Amino acid sequence: MTTESRDIVVVGGGTAGCFAAATAAQEGLDVVILERKSEDDGGHIACGDAIKGKSTFPDVIDLDYLREESFTNENIQRAHFINPKGDNYDIPFQGEAGSVIDRKRYGEVLLEEADRAGAEIHYNTVVTDVTQNGRVTGVTAKREGSPVEYEAEVVIDAAGALSILQDKVDFEGTRYDTNVDYSQFCSAYREVIETDEPVEYDDAIVFKPTKELGYLWYFPRTDREINAGLGFQMNKPPMELVDVLKRDLEAQPEFENATVKDKLGAALPTRRPYDSAVAPGFMSVGDAAGHVNPTTGGGIPGAAKAGHWAAEVATDAITEGAFSESMLWEYNHRVQTDFGKRFAAMDLYNIFGSAHEVDELTEIITALPAEMLVDLMGTKGVTSLGVVEKIKTTIRAAIDTRGHWGTLREGYQVSQLAGDLQSVYDQYPSTPSEFENWQAKRDAVMDQLYEITGAEPKY
Ligand SMILES: Cc1cc2nc3c(=O)[nH]c(=O)nc-3n(C[C@H](O)[C@H](O)[C@H](O)COP(=O)(O)OP(=O)(O)OC[C@H]3O[C@@H](n4cnc5c(N)ncnc54)[C@H](O)[C@@H]3O)c2cc1C
Repeated sequence: MTTESRDIVVVGGGTAGCFAAATAAQEGLDVVILERKSEDDGGHIACGDAIKGKSTFPDVIDLDYLREESFTNENIQRAHFINPKGDNYDIPFQGEAGSVIDRKRYGEVLLEEADRAGAEIHYNTVVTDVTQNGRVTGVTAKREGSPVEYEAEVVIDAAGALSILQDKVDFEGTRYDTNVDYSQFCSAYREVIETDEPVEYDDAIVFKPTKELGYLWYFPRTDREINAGLGFQMNKPPMELVDVLKRDLEAQPEFENATVKDKLGAALPTRRPYDSAVAPGFMSVGDAAGHVNPTTGGGIPGAAKAGHWAAEVATDAITEGAFSESMLWEYNHRVQTDFGKRFAAMDLYNIFGSAHEVDELTEIITALPAEMLVDLMGTKGVTSLGVVEKIKTTIRAAIDTRGHWGTLREGYQVSQLAGDLQSVYDQYPSTPSEFENWQAKRDAVMDQLYEITGAEPKY
């Protein structure tokens, strides 16, 4: 077996892996990305292709180049919700417009940029195991079919949802989050479709509920190229994703005579970020650590930031020559006190949703004005209504939601708990020693949630 040695080995050349590798290479470290795909297939990943905009990304690659090459629609001004039981409604975006990207080209540019920063990329390299002696010291892989061992000071696990590395590392004695199971994942599938005529909603990302408590989306890459897809939570009975999407698209007039350019499916985590994603010599980033907004499935921004932060912290650890859990802990702190707290709070709504029938939730959503929904979810940035208007809409909503007041009340209680939870995450400990106390405080909020909603505990 050939043996190679690097400062950092990054497993996976997706968003998280490329940002990690570019960051570490710029710091002057010797980094290799191991990617199981071929170079031609690099960047081909199942995705809805919607992101908030360029500001989503750490400034360690040429973001203007990324934008020019892959942002095919930079004019997303609103989220449009199709309501099968009543009026459709819009939630306008505040600030920067959203974008839809050509995901393959985006992935290729990230790989190009990691390479330009000085990282090596080994394609056709499937990582099969880790090497460890109390800490992770590297990985073993098959490169072009031949066995290779890669030694490393730090291994960054950017291998995506259901990363194989986590089955291999011995986490005994560490605080790495192993409280993970399939029911905390979503299975999703998407097609890229070219229509004959331009669609009307090229300034909107469009959502539609499915009866399985998931959603179906149409995200316009351009006014004639649409990313259409759907997903279901794996704790629900499986849905025939391809058939459900096919039936839906056949019923939409704008997709008549459309051609399908690409099809792909994958799993994605719809859970709170891992409580800890570090172990000696080992860090997980992106989907591999649950860095996805669990209500929207948006994981690109979290993956980019996590990859960048992990590489910064790993670089410091390598400079100090120490790779313990404590040395890498700062990375957990950055994640949890940034997007981690928001994602953990959003997950409460998933848990609330899992305790109710889709029909009931749709009826409530139908009856509530969009502004109240936004308030309920604690989402920022929607223009506030005048007081009189607010009272009128509240009364109207109260009448329309008759029969569901108990559930609505629960919804408000969940939104309060979401606020409490964010405060707990603000106090995420800066060293591992306080971690168990912190977890106890967080779990106390979760216990209240399960009590209020009657939902099956998710963790
Ligand atoms: C259908 C779908 C729609 C989505 N829509 C959106 C959206 O609209 N907006 C958004 O922001 N997010 C979306 N997401 C989520 C987003 O795609 C992910 O969160 C994001 O790609 C995570 O990046 P990552 O780098 O962590 O993992 P990935 O992009 O999955 O990259 C992991 C890489 O690791 C490689 N790899 C895995 N195992 C090995 C191994 N053993 N050896 C070597 N290489 C390996 C893989 O080939 C892959 O290249 C969607 C996800 C799905 C499935």
